[in-house]
Amino acid sequence: MSDHRYYFRTDEAGAKRGLDLLDSFFEDEGLPVATMEIDEEKGLWEVSIYVPGDPDDALKTRIADCLSGDFPKAEIELEVFGDTDWIAKSLEGLTPVRAGRFLVHGAHDRDAVRTHDLAIELEAGQAFGTGHHGTTAGCLEMIEMVMRASTGGPAGAGPVLDLGTGSGVLAIAAARLGPVRVLATDIDPVATRVARENVRHNHVAEQIRCVTATGFHSTAFGQAGPFGLIIANILARPLMRMAPDIRRHLAPGGSVILSGILASQRWQVLAAYNTQGMRHVKTLWRNGWVTIHLK
Ligand code: SAH
Repeated sequence: MSDHRYYFRTDEAGAKRGLDLLDSFFEDEGLPVATMEIDEEKGLWEVSIYVPGDPDDALKTRIADCLSGDFPKAEIELEVFGDTDWIAKSLEGLTPVRAGRFLVHGAHDRDAVRTHDLAIELEAGQAFGTGHHGTTAGCLEMIEMVMRASTGGPAGAGPVLDLGTGSGVLAIAAARLGPVRVLATDIDPVATRVARENVRHNHVAEQIRCVTATGFHSTAFGQAGPFGLIIANILARPLMRMAPDIRRHLAPGGSVILSGILASQRWQVLAAYNTQGMRHVKTLWRNGWVTIHLK
């Protein structure tokens, strides 16, 4: 069985319209719809509908029917993948991205940095996380809000755990805000290596430790925790599975920021964390994805 997505390309306004159309048409079937920017210079966006199981021509025909009024020329394409790849599939090129006070940019765009920016410079590496994806941008904004609002300000928010660190962008963002210690982990050793390089490159190596680990399977968590802030931008299903572990490693009064969640999966994820005695504080919505703050 292979999960898959049907998608078509359009411009930014078309992506908003396509998201609305498909979302209302397929809402009852619970099929998640999301948009993402593919090429900033060309203004190119993709609207995707994510479907569990094997591809089915009848569904493709229904998608085409739903879109035919507004998008008579839409070419609906198919991509098949395993269920953990939704995010990694959407890696995009590196142009500067603003989220809250953060500016995520490549070395060639240093000129874009303004005086009061919290700049994060990344090499276009193999690991996910350049700020272009709605989930990364949502996390950056939420980290700033949560750390500034914590007792004692950003310095009082830690220690911080960035679970599924990818490029290390969120760990670096947390370190930029205040003198907190950060544990950054990823299941993928390539991501951990890229994150470590980015951490050094941004001069925050004294604050951040990068470790390869699947979920919470490492002694590093016990040594560095319990955490005042846990950030996890992974996917809804693994996040729901990990709810008890996340709760267990959280310090009393600590915050959790979750992303990689499609808007239609929000209630399921909230339910899994409510079961652990945690309550919803705030949700940010971006391009069909949500970022959630819980306490
Ligand atoms: N934090 C970055 C990257 C998010 S992509 C950002 O916000 O942009 C999700 C990352 O989680 C990937 O790098 C993937 O390798 C990692 N990941 C997926 N499942 C994981 C698990 N069970 N434990 C740890 N990391 C995981």
